[in-house]
Amino acid sequence: MVKYDKKTLEMMIEGKLSWEELRLIISGRKDADRFEKILEILQERVSWPEKIILPLHEHLYIVLKENNRIVKCDCGFEFGNYNENWKTKCRVRVRDTFETIEELYLKDMGSDPTWQELREYLCPGCFTLLDVEAVPPGYPTTFNFLPDIDTFYEKWLGKQAPDK
Ligand SMILES: [Zn+2]
Repeated sequence: MVKYDKKTLEMMIEGKLSWEELRLIISGRKDADRFEKILEILQERVSWPEKIILPLHEHLYIVLKENNRIVKCDCGFEFGNYNENWKTKCRVRVRDTFETIEELYLKDMGSDPTWQELREYLCPGCFTLLDVEAVPPGYPTTFNFLPDIDTFYEKWLGKQAPDK
């Protein structure tokens, strides 16, 4: 099994590897310490002190703050408890007219706003576009992912989560 060094994994996170290099890493067996190395790299890239316990989404992490598991953005904005949908704390741009949809798509190439709207979720701290939903008008905000952190740490990593 090939062991990848931290520099290679950093390049992977930054999207700087060729497809040939990346394919070998993502399709191969993972180093036993891959998760810890990735957390170390991510932790070095943020300016805040809270410990990252799980990367949640591009730009978002579940971190420990005063023994609470909260969602935090690269920029430091805190979305609150990870059990709650971070999207409900976002600034949201809704594209529900032909005019706003045609800012993205050529005329007649986008969706019909009577049956679908685009919701763009932006971080209130840095205005990074975090996610986009294409849903019927009135559809509830989707909850992308609620990880079972304790089971992940115990069953996959063979240890207790950092706050246990
Ligand atoms: Zn942010």
